[in-house]
Amino acid sequence: MLKIDNITKSFAGVFEPVLKGVDLSLKEGEFCTIIGANGSGKSTLLKIISGEHQADSGKIQRNGEISQVVQDVNKGTIPSMTMLENIALSRMKKPSFSFYNRCKSEVVDKIKSLNIGLEKFVNQPLGALSGGQRQTIATLMAINSGGKILLLDEHTSALDPKMQTMLMEYTAKSVREHRLTTLMITHNLDDAVKYGDRLIMMHKGRIVVDVKGRKKAELKIQSLLEMFHKIEDQILLNDGGKNVC
Ligand code: ADP
Ligand code: MG
Repeated sequence: MLKIDNITKSFAGVFEPVLKGVDLSLKEGEFCTIIGANGSGKSTLLKIISGEHQADSGKIQRNGEISQVVQDVNKGTIPSMTMLENIALSRMKKPSFSFYNRCKSEVVDKIKSLNIGLEKFVNQPLGALSGGQRQTIATLMAINSGGKILLLDEHTSALDPKMQTMLMEYTAKSVREHRLTTLMITHNLDDAVKYGDRLIMMHKGRIVVDVKGRKKAELKIQSLLEMFHKIEDQILLNDGGKNVC
């Protein structure tokens, strides 16, 4: 469960508030995708939920630890440590060599089961891998670290189409199996339509579209694109009105 009420956020030097009163309530195991133009406040919302930023006002309630893949994947990992060390560290509650040794074969098995050849790199520093490979590992770490709330910020953006499909299928399967309450930001409208039980669209610091249930299951990209254009037009008209004087 995750419940956020009336979250607002401004940054010094940024003229308009970045979040203008965001309400969102997710049930346990609910999988919600977030779309919206660059700068609409998506990452800031996730950073407030994870505690990286403090909201100016509003309330957040949650019933579990948070796991996340941040937009800048290097921030969520230690590039100079090996893939295995990064994964083991993400699963450790307190430092332990024996945990690390036990973890090894389990991690290698899990990576092998993805069937994308990443097991060859387990002992290489994460920084030596490609951006897409790092995103894959960061996602594995987040999903398997035991948190009940999963925050994903464009976690497939650096992947080629084949890897992207593999990682999205893995993400969706894991969310279902572990009943993870999930917020996933994506610019890929195919994925936003295909995955998740709910879709929200953000625009200029507000949630302007919220689709769930049957409506979400039947949602088509075409209607999503129409919504995008309609919202852009409305906001431009409104802003135009305000800015006249
Ligand atoms: P999105 O993820 O939807 O692309 P962000 O939430 O990253 O958007 O950013 C929304 C707006 O807030 C942008 O205009 C951005 O420049 C501004 N912003 C985000 N983080 C900061 C920060 N730490 N300091 C100042 N402005 C910021
Ligand atoms: Mg962002």
